[in-house]
Amino acid sequence: MRWENLTAESDGNPPANPALFGADTVTTRTFDTPEFRGITFHEIRARSIVNRVPGASRMPFEWTVNPYRGCSHACVYCFARKTHSYLDLDTGLGFDSQIVVKVNAPELLRRQLGSRRWSGEHIAMGTNVDCYQRAEGRYRLMPGIIAALRDHANPFSILTKGTLILRDLDLLKQAAAVTEVGISVSVGFTDRELWRTVEPGTPAPERRLDVVRTLSAHGIDCGVLMAPVIPFLSDDPAQLRATVRAVAASGATSVTPLVLHLRPGAREWFTAWLGHHHPHLVRRYERLYAEGAYAPKWYQRRITRQVHELAEEYGIGPTRPGLPRRIPLPEPAAPEPTQLTLL
Ligand code: SF4
Repeated sequence: MRWENLTAESDGNPPANPALFGADTVTTRTFDTPEFRGITFHEIRARSIVNRVPGASRMPFEWTVNPYRGCSHACVYCFARKTHSYLDLDTGLGFDSQIVVKVNAPELLRRQLGSRRWSGEHIAMGTNVDCYQRAEGRYRLMPGIIAALRDHANPFSILTKGTLILRDLDLLKQAAAVTEVGISVSVGFTDRELWRTVEPGTPAPERRLDVVRTLSAHGIDCGVLMAPVIPFLSDDPAQLRATVRAVAASGATSVTPLVLHLRPGAREWFTAWLGHHHPHLVRRYERLYAEGAYAPKWYQRRITRQVHELAEEYGIGPTRPGLPRRIPLPEPAAPEPTQLTLL
C-alpha cells in the first residue's frame, strides 16, 4: 500500500515529498518542542477510516479505526513496524519518528457511522499502533472519534500504553453509558530497566497501571494485556509474579498474557537491540524463534498457564460474571486495506 491509497483529493497543500510519497496531499510538519523534537508528522486526509481486518475470523473484532501510522512510543519489538514499509518508510527509526496523521479521522468516522451501509458493529482501536501516542496530545483526534461513537451508540474498544487516554475520561464515561466500551492497557512487565531500553517512548509501567486504577475508580472496566512477555528477560517466575501482582493491585478486570512474536520488520530491529543490550541471548533467541515469528507452543502454553495461575491467586477476574469482554489484540501485520474500509 502506498500514499496514494491513503489520501483523498488534494486539500490544496503543495506536495511534501513527492519522490517519497507519490501523492500530492501530504503536509509535513515538525514542532520544535522537547516533546516532538526529532519527529516528523505527515498529515493526510484519508479516504476512509474504518478498516476490515484481514483474517478477522481469528480475531475478536472485525473492524478497526487507526488515526495514526507509526508510533513514537518506539517499542523495539513492535509488530506494526512492517506496516511502515508499505508506505516506503523505514521500519526502524523511521517507524518511531515518521508519523502519519489522518487529520480528518473524526469527521470521516462520523460520516461512515451515519451511512446506511454501516450496521453498528464493534470497532477496535489501538490494534495497529497506539492511538494515544504523543501525537494525540497535539492533534486531538480521539475526542472527536469517541464522540462520534458515543453519538451513534456504537460499541468499541481501545488498547493503549498511553496515559493520555485519561484526558478523554468524561467522553469515555458518556460513551460507556450508551454502548459497550472495552478498555485494555498494555503492560507486559514491571521491570524498569527493561522498560527504559525496550519501550523507550512509553509511559512507565506503573503510570499505565495508574490509568487502570483511575478508569476503574470511575466505573470503567479495564483489562490488562500482558504483552509482550519477553523470553529470558521478563519471563522469570518472580518477574511474572511481580507483574501480575501489580496488575491485580490496579483493579484490572482481566490479565491476558501474550508472548513476544517477531515478525519481519520487528525481528531485525529487535535482534539488533538484543545484540547491543543482551548479546549473550542472541543464540538462545535464534533457537527459540527458529521456526519463525512465534515462540514454540510449549513455551506459550507455559507462560499462559503461569499467568493464569497467578491471576487466580491474586483474584483477578471479570467484575460482572457472564459478561464477555472484548480484549483488543494486535491485528495481523498486513497492508492496510483501502476500500472497505475502515482504518
Ligand atoms: S505502543 Fe504499541 S504501537 Fe506503539 S510502538 Fe509500542 S507496541 Fe508499537
